[in-house]
Amino acid sequence: MMKQALMAAALGLALSLPFGAAQATNAADNPFYTVSELPFQMPPFDKIKDEHYVPALTRGMAEHRAEIEAIANSKDAPSFENTIVALDKSGALLTRVSNVFFNLSGANTNDELQKIQRDFAPQFAAHQDAIVLNEALFKRVETIYQARQKLGLNDEDQRLIVRNYTDFVRAGAKLQGEQREQLKTLNARLAELQTQFSQNVLNETNARGLSVSDKAELAGLSEEAITAAETAAKAKGSEAPYLIALMNTSGQPALASLENREVRQRLFEASILRSSSGGEHDNRQLAIEMAKLRAQRANLLGYPTHAAYMLEDQTARSVDTVNKMMRELAPAAVANARREAAEMQAMIKADGKDFELAGWDWAYYANKLRQKKYNFDASELRPYFELNNVLEKGVFYAAGQLYGLQFERRTDLPVYQEDVQVYQVNEADGTPLGLFIADFYARANKRGGAWMNEYVSQSKLLGTQPVIGNHLNIPKPAAGQPTLMTFDEVTTLFHEFGHALHGLFSDVRYPRFAGTNVPTDFVEYPSQVNEMWATWPSVLANYAKHYKTGEQIPQELLDKVLAAEQFGQGFATTEYLAAALLDQAWHQLSADQVPTDALAFEAKTLQDLGLDFAPVPPRYRSTYFSHIFAGGYSAGYYSYLWSEVLDADSVEWFKENGGLKRANGDHFRKTLLSRGGSEEALELFNQFRGRAPDIAPLLQRRGLASGATAH
Ligand SMILES: [Zn+2]
Repeated sequence: MMKQALMAAALGLALSLPFGAAQATNAADNPFYTVSELPFQMPPFDKIKDEHYVPALTRGMAEHRAEIEAIANSKDAPSFENTIVALDKSGALLTRVSNVFFNLSGANTNDELQKIQRDFAPQFAAHQDAIVLNEALFKRVETIYQARQKLGLNDEDQRLIVRNYTDFVRAGAKLQGEQREQLKTLNARLAELQTQFSQNVLNETNARGLSVSDKAELAGLSEEAITAAETAAKAKGSEAPYLIALMNTSGQPALASLENREVRQRLFEASILRSSSGGEHDNRQLAIEMAKLRAQRANLLGYPTHAAYMLEDQTARSVDTVNKMMRELAPAAVANARREAAEMQAMIKADGKDFELAGWDWAYYANKLRQKKYNFDASELRPYFELNNVLEKGVFYAAGQLYGLQFERRTDLPVYQEDVQVYQVNEADGTPLGLFIADFYARANKRGGAWMNEYVSQSKLLGTQPVIGNHLNIPKPAAGQPTLMTFDEVTTLFHEFGHALHGLFSDVRYPRFAGTNVPTDFVEYPSQVNEMWATWPSVLANYAKHYKTGEQIPQELLDKVLAAEQFGQGFATTEYLAAALLDQAWHQLSADQVPTDALAFEAKTLQDLGLDFAPVPPRYRSTYFSHIFAGGYSAGYYSYLWSEVLDADSVEWFKENGGLKRANGDHFRKTLLSRGGSEEALELFNQFRGRAPDIAPLLQRRGLASGATAH
């Protein structure tokens, strides 16, 4: 049925097909059919119902196909305006609905949305293919590409031509006949698998929390964490009175405080065995099939592996460059982790115990060691990190000092979930810049981790201003209690807001270049830079105040936090590199090298790389590694460390130039944040920094510089 609709679409019959009479009569009620009249074209969340998605997605695709056909079959000679610009403008309805649909599928899903996601995944893939594999359209794009230097266009226009042409070629526009059909089949199947993988992770993460029947087994957890475990058990209707819900990474926060070793082991195993031990949410075969299909697709497109295909379009450019950097860092990182482990082992021995440090012990003894060495307990910090203070007097304050931004709470605008908050962001002179939507609490229907999304992208061509969302997974406190954050959560809040600034400051003509439309191995860089303000003395002094007494966080406590940060670098870098290199291993395989046993492949890979240090498992194991099998980071998880080279070097620049001040923020904004993808990423870095990136500050920060040791 789908195939038929597509063929009709290719023949230009699309508009007559997807509209059933029933849908047509409801059309007027569907809020997606018209541009939102809310400020900044914010989605009218109060009017959007689950039943609006299918008709709006269907009609959005049909309208988009009709626009594409009109461009492709135009009688006029191809021009920049009637082809390239027209393409960038096309698909307005589809963009409107999918921006909401995809984000809410992650942030606030339900069975209905999950079903639509599964049903539509292959259709979206087919829709993309119908555009990029449209031969008449590609001919026009190619004609303009070849003539681009003679058209009297400016740099951004020319770049749009090159970018479009590259997108078409990379998506298979030069393939012929049977190969095109093969590509379509591969894309459709991959889209299905990807959706299934992410839903399996969500369902398994929800299903696999650790049930505890005896309160004594929770010894070590704070009263608040015990209440949260009780609430979670009730919410799930579980038989046991307590449930420790899983977070998405291998490590679980409760492991740092649970005193009962056997309970720690159970929690740890529940986490790392996710989607790999049978049952309907097992992802082992999905990972294998995806690795194989991606390799086949890469071959079809002329590349030896999926990684080679992906990396060519990144700032890293090649598999060798990524392998070289990550593999060179691995031995020093593992050596640091082993040193940290030895210190913990000594502590275990001093306690009169004789077991060997295991994965489920790491966070617990790391915390104890931190208390001993630095004389503080991470939980002492939380009363100073109350969510609203951190947001308004920390994150917003820093943005005010650096960029002159002002934030105005908008309680008059509709939200999709009661905890969500909306802020209008204004320039120093009061000019409205965009909207910021804050969705910070964990929910069972929200995927793990933290992310930023755009509901509306900035574009001078379309006359739009940005509407940006930030999503975290902070446990929601009991009613009436303040939200007290961990230091990690505070850092994450600053990080995600760095992405938000990239979106908010976007000042480009074309939507294709808006905000975070930059290479994956560049996109984490501005967000990482923003983390530096979380611990900047004047920012901290402004936000880190005790929620009861208003007393400022003691400098002494803070110094300990910063000193202790260095202590965990061996672990943090090792778990990260293990995941990043695992991602490369899966995607540097040719189709006939793809293994039949996912876990054995994972084990062998880590062993070969010297990263098989059992107490430090990869940050994500293959079967719940959504970044690479469900999200957009396949062969791209290395990006975080890659971006951190630019980040650490930029932090030095801010320090050299007087830190938190308007002139510095304005320079960063002007040269880099506002430019989105409108110029080569590394060229933007050069314009900001005045030279090419230097890796030394990163090595120093991560304790990897030669001669450096972990303390
Ligand atoms: Zn990020």
